[in-house]
Amino acid sequence: MLRNDNHGRVMISGLTYEQLRSWLSDSMDMKPFRANQIFSWIHQRGTTEFQQMTNISRSIREQLETKAMITALRTDSTLSAEDGTIKYSYLLSDDNRIESVLIPEPPRLTACLSTQVGCRLGCTFCQTGKMGFKRNLTTDEIVSQLYQLRNTTETRISNVVFMGMGEPMDNFDDVRDALSIISDDRGICIGSEKSLYPQLVCRGELRS
Ligand code: SF4
Repeated sequence: MLRNDNHGRVMISGLTYEQLRSWLSDSMDMKPFRANQIFSWIHQRGTTEFQQMTNISRSIREQLETKAMITALRTDSTLSAEDGTIKYSYLLSDDNRIESVLIPEPPRLTACLSTQVGCRLGCTFCQTGKMGFKRNLTTDEIVSQLYQLRNTTETRISNVVFMGMGEPMDNFDDVRDALSIISDDRGICIGSEKSLYPQLVCRGELRS
């Protein structure tokens, strides 16, 4: 979904491959192959600066800097458990906080992501439920948690679950787009049969 930040820049790290290709073509008059390059830089390599996209000309990078932005969360705190699980608290651009967790269960490494700030369901056993609902996370904020977690480990993240803050089905459109980005083989390409959404398979696997 096309969204702008406070400076009117499109938050392109929240666009699926198809949305990115359409925006680059319709609004930036760029050829389709640019979508492959930019999507790969953001979602496969984890780049958050357009200037690091060295296979794209300087003039295009400068255009992108004025019209688009890539979301990067700020780490607020971390908490490690004896079993190796690490919980991260991230600050959003509006200073709301969310939590993501990295859970090692060799050979798996699972990223547990948040989908909302707070939650409206109010389960009595849950701390998030007690804080009430504040807002949905945007697609770029959901996928950024995964990239922040990836930056902390040499081990490949094999699974993604949406069991952090919020009820994912209450933020359906953004979770759907985040799943599209996460499972895309031009990006980080996580879609194991053992993940929360077992129907997800990377497009490359579907073709083979
Ligand atoms: S985050 Fe999950 S457990 Fe907590 S209130 Fe929402 S639905 Fe219930």
